[in-house]
Parts: sequence; structure tokens; C-alpha cells
Amino acid sequence: MSKVLALLHTQADGSLPKAAYETLTAAIALGEPFSVAVIGAGAAAAADAVAGCGAAAFFAVGDAAVAQPRYGTDAAAAAALVKASGAEIVLAPGTSRFARCLPGVAHRVGAQIDTHIVAVRAEGGAVHAQRWFYRQRVLGSFSRAARPWVLLVDGGVNAPWQGAAGAANAQAVAVAFEAADQRTTVTGVQAPAADAQTIRPDAALLFVAGAGWTKKQKDGQAHIGEAGKLIQDFLHKAKASLGSSKSLVDIQSEGQETLSFMSHMNQVGQTGSTPRHPKGLSTCCHGEEPHAVGWRFINERRAINLDANCGWAQGKADVVYVGDAFEIMTKVNALIG
Ligand SMILES: Cc1cc2nc3c(=O)[nH]c(=O)nc-3n(C[C@H](O)[C@H](O)[C@H](O)COP(=O)(O)OP(=O)(O)OC[C@H]3O[C@@H](n4cnc5c(N)ncnc54)[C@H](O)[C@@H]3O)c2cc1C
Repeated sequence: MSKVLALLHTQADGSLPKAAYETLTAAIALGEPFSVAVIGAGAAAAADAVAGCGAAAFFAVGDAAVAQPRYGTDAAAAAALVKASGAEIVLAPGTSRFARCLPGVAHRVGAQIDTHIVAVRAEGGAVHAQRWFYRQRVLGSFSRAARPWVLLVDGGVNAPWQGAAGAANAQAVAVAFEAADQRTTVTGVQAPAADAQTIRPDAALLFVAGAGWTKKQKDGQAHIGEAGKLIQDFLHKAKASLGSSKSLVDIQSEGQETLSFMSHMNQVGQTGSTPRHPKGLSTCCHGEEPHAVGWRFINERRAINLDANCGWAQGKADVVYVGDAFEIMTKVNALIG
């Protein structure tokens, strides 16, 4: 039996992010006695929000010093919480805040750490974790004897915990922050405008564009400008994430005219990424096997193609709309606009 800690952090408004609730689900599913620790602004109140989760104890560090997501103070606070809880297994959401500070925390508390964990289970006195290797093509299951063992849990894998709030009476853990921990001040977040950022891992929908958008259409002409406008309009309205087939991004490197906002970072597939989204819509894309690899974590798949025999129609999509994507997306944009 291992002492498990669900180590969570709050957001700027004091609430817990979705990834924290998902980590809580993973901790509960282990079936071992567990505690909850929260770092950040409003930590004690955030512990109250998950008071009904069945944790044996709650800990919090809500000092003003951890109101901002800063490596020095986060690392000091997380190390103090791991020690105070006596945790052997630490499950934490793989957010950018924790991905930044927990490797340092592991070093400070003499722990081993693994990232991108998609499943954990306890069996025969050991804890087993799973993660994907080699660009998500090989699923590995492994265990470590080292304790503490810190596991950063990937988002979008576990269902967010739902349950009653209450009085967690979280124990406030004192942290001796040093001046050096507080040298850095977070003055804000610089991020591309929502319209400029096309890769959105948290989006409900993955919109994939294929090379067909750049091909000659029924009037014998290519309509790349119109294609770009339709796609960007849809992404803006649906807040969807943008994926691409390899052929489409390769066109750019061949110096041909293509969609200016598309890069190799958008490519999904065997030699691209395998993002996780609840839904996917593929457009002007043949959907060959390598591309289907990129869709393995998309739950509901739809495609638009002129060709009723395209790859998507052959068992890869739940619904195929046989039609002209230019016409269909114009209509869709008008409907959601
Ligand atoms: C080792 C290897 C690795 C690869 N890895 C990847 C990978 O990671 N990802 C990947 O995507 N590919 C990968 N490929 C390439 C893959 O095999 C395909 O060549 C590529 O996916 C095809 O891209 P596409 O479907 O966009 O283009 P095309 O095959 O050219 O298909 C275009 C489609 O658009 C349709 N279309 C055209 N106009 C319209 C319209 N107005 N409305 C609706 N539909 C229209 C056409 O009917 C056609 O089906 C890999 C290949 C190899 C050999």
C-alpha cells in the first residue's frame, strides 16, 4: 500500500483547472489511501471545492508568494507539501505550471519523476503507470521502486472528478521561501491572439485541412485565398484547433502557393502529431492510413470530400459528407456566425 498525494494548483481566479479534477480521478482510481495538496491563490478554498473526494487529509499553501506561477516559489511550496504529506506516489496535472517546477521538486525530495502519464493502477503492492513512446505509437506500462515517485498526468485522459464541496479544513503548510525564490516577478502572459494561435490542445474540435483546398476546383482554377478565408473564419468562430495533412504542409516547402497560416506544426499523422479532441472534421483530405494514425485519439470523426470513395468513407469516419467543402464550409460559417 502506498501513500498517494494528488498535488494540485489553482488558477489566477482561485479555482482549480480541469486538469486538477482529472488528476483527482486518477488518484481515486488507484484505490490507495490518498491526500490532496493545493498550491496557489485561494488554495484552502479550492481544497473545500473537492472536500467530498474521500481524501484522508488536505494540505494547502496559499501564501501571496505562490499567487503567481513562478518556478522558485512553486518548487519550494511543492517540495514542502510532498514532505508534509509523507507521500510515496505523487500524482500531479501535467500543466505548464507543474511541468516547469516538478522536475526540480523531484530533485529536492529525492524522487523519480515521469511525465505524460495516461493511466495508473495499483496491483500486487506495486503502482504501474502507462505512457506513450515514440510519437504515441508504442504504449508502455512500467513501474518504479523509487519513492517518492512523481507522475505528471496528461490532460484529457481521465474524466474530471465531480462531487460535493464541503469543509476540507486543509492544513496550511508553512514554507520558508528564500529571497532567491522570489527574484522573478511574473508580469503577465504574452500569447498570440486567439486568432493567430491555430494549435489549441483544449479545443473541442480538431479541424483538418487537406491538400484538396489548394487543388483546381470545378471551374478549373485554384481558390487558395478563398480557402484560407473560409478556414480561418471557421477556426475563429468554432474555436477549433487546426490540423493539416502532410501533403498540404509539404506544398509550402516546395515553394508553391498555399495557406500562409499553416506550418509543419499543424501536421497530424504518422509523421505528425496525434492530438486528443472529442471531435474531428476533416476537409479536402483523402484520409490515407498514415493520416488515420493521427486521428486515433479523436472520438467522433467526420469528413467532407467530393469523392464518395475517399479514405474516410472506408471505415475511418463516422460520417462522410460527400460534397464541395468550399460550399459546405461557407454554409457552416453562415450558420454558426
Ligand atoms: C512514411 C510516410 C509517412 C506519412 N505521414 C503522413 C502524416 O503524418 N500525415 C499525413 O497527412 N500524411 C502522411 N503521409 C502522406 C499520406 O500518405 C498522403 O499522401 C497524404 O495524407 C495525402 O494528403 P491529402 O489527403 O491532403 O491530399 P490528397 O491525397 O491530394 O487528397 C485531396 C483530397 O481533397 C479532395 N477534394 C478536393 N477538392 C475538394 C473540395 N472542393 N471539397 C471536398 N473535397 C475536395 C479530393 O477528393 C481528395 O480526396 C505519409 C506518407 C508516407 C509514405
